[in-house]
Amino acid sequence: MADTKKEDFVHGDLDRLRHSAAHILAQAVKRLFPNAKLGMGPAIKDGFYYDFEVERNFTEEDLVKIEQVMNEIIASGYAFERDEMDKSAAVDFFRQRGESYKCEIIQGIPDSKVSIYKDGEFIDLCRGPHVQKSSEVKAVKLLSIAGAYWRGSEQNKMLQRIYGTAFASRKELDEHVRNLEEAKKRDHRKLGRELDLFSFHEESPGSVFFHAKGYFIYNTLIEFMREKLRGGGYREVQAPMVLSDELWKRSGHYEHFKEAMYFTKQEEREFAVKPMNCPGHVLIYGSQQHSYRELPLRIAEFGRVHRYEKSGVTHGLLRVRSFTQDDAHHFCMVEQLESEIKSLIELTKDVYQAFGFNEYSVAVSTRPPKAMGSDEIWNQATAALKSALESFSIPYEIHEGEGAFYGPKIDFVIFDSLRRPWQCGTIQVDFSMPERFELEYIGSDGNRHRPVMVHRAIYGSLERFLGILIEHYGGAFPLWLAPVQVLIATISEKQEGFAKEVQGRLLKAGLRSELDIRPEKIGYKIREAETQKIPYVAVIGDREAESRTLAVRGRGRKDLGALDVEGFIKRVQDETQSRR
Ligand SMILES: [Zn+2]
Ligand SMILES: [Zn+2]
Repeated sequence: MADTKKEDFVHGDLDRLRHSAAHILAQAVKRLFPNAKLGMGPAIKDGFYYDFEVERNFTEEDLVKIEQVMNEIIASGYAFERDEMDKSAAVDFFRQRGESYKCEIIQGIPDSKVSIYKDGEFIDLCRGPHVQKSSEVKAVKLLSIAGAYWRGSEQNKMLQRIYGTAFASRKELDEHVRNLEEAKKRDHRKLGRELDLFSFHEESPGSVFFHAKGYFIYNTLIEFMREKLRGGGYREVQAPMVLSDELWKRSGHYEHFKEAMYFTKQEEREFAVKPMNCPGHVLIYGSQQHSYRELPLRIAEFGRVHRYEKSGVTHGLLRVRSFTQDDAHHFCMVEQLESEIKSLIELTKDVYQAFGFNEYSVAVSTRPPKAMGSDEIWNQATAALKSALESFSIPYEIHEGEGAFYGPKIDFVIFDSLRRPWQCGTIQVDFSMPERFELEYIGSDGNRHRPVMVHRAIYGSLERFLGILIEHYGGAFPLWLAPVQVLIATISEKQEGFAKEVQGRLLKAGLRSELDIRPEKIGYKIREAETQKIPYVAVIGDREAESRTLAVRGRGRKDLGALDVEGFIKRVQDETQSRR
């Protein structure tokens, strides 16, 4: 089979191909379900969908049949032909065919004429463009069925949506489907349940209940970051979670962020649960007089924030209503910005590297039309961000005009082991907050000056970062993050004494282990450890108990042979410390 020239296949082409596949899907559905009414069928990220009103819900078996008919249509090589109709004629045409949704769409189009596309016996209202022939859609797959309200409104009828994807070659489709399956296996919500890491409960929607194993990883992420903070000259603080609404009005959050904030009232005073940590740090900075000699001043907090998200958009650990940020604010002089940003980029790189995120993309967002602060200070700050990135030879994109009104920023997007992008860290310069709170330092000239503030987070949200890590590692955490590092498994009850002694020694050495002395077959115990993704299984049978050794297996069926207890402990300790 001739392969399409792949390098010429830019994204617009793929969208056109997928949208054409949506027509073919609708055509196939009409062949099998002549009474189906057509909704809309756009190309989307990674594929396409089409909405239908049908008498009964589609089933998985229907998808198989529909896909077969789609392949017949593709093989027929129908040409996509464009035609125009007057609007009123088009309404009549589609009304005769019972396509009430199409009539509604036409009535909403301002032009006097509309375009229709025909391939084989199928005609659809459409703006185009499409591939020339149905046979150009080389590889198609239907993926799932979902309910979807017409035009996304709950007031409207619920339609049946079929999702699919299409590619210009079978090879690309197969690779995509493999990635989808792998992503499904790695879904952090599924692994979170299976590995007993966390759960969600209706009693607190969108908020995480961390179980002991999940909380261990969460705390380890904090400890790792604390180590970095100490090295980076940060002062770790803690500000209260509930603060007066006066503060939020002054900071501007009340005005811009009110919909996402939780409020409470006591003694006739209004308070808000903090959605951000910045104002707390500003109060701490302002509580003392500062000299230029103290700057830059770096204040860090693992700050728990609450932000209201609609029930429909919360998603596992990735989007929650309550989360902890690894937040910090640098208070500095404008001329210190560049060196501050440099040290921040270095720290960010260093942290990501520890998790194997060696690839990331970076964007600098510049001054929006409505902004605060002079051109001069904006130019200076934006130049500082760019030149800091350049000094590390980090390529970056410019997002022109996409900075916040209060300053330019750098965003980091990391790529996980399935090469999926995740927005994580940000470094954000702020001229506004020091102004609003009249922050000052005494300069070398003895006068009062206004500092600049830099907001930054590296993990972003601990909850979200953990969700990303679960999927990145597929639940098989490296030794330093694994809640259980070693499973000690006995072959029979005779080895119980030695097994307990070994566990005692591992515990003393600071290692995390579980003991399996149940009267189960050893094969079963090992399989269970594999499902739990425990890095090491130390098997103890008669031979091991007698020679006081362990038959050690590494994750992924790696047989490491017999090791003496001391040697094994040393190995696990070294591997933990190296954080490989
Ligand atoms: Zn179309
Ligand atoms: Zn901040």
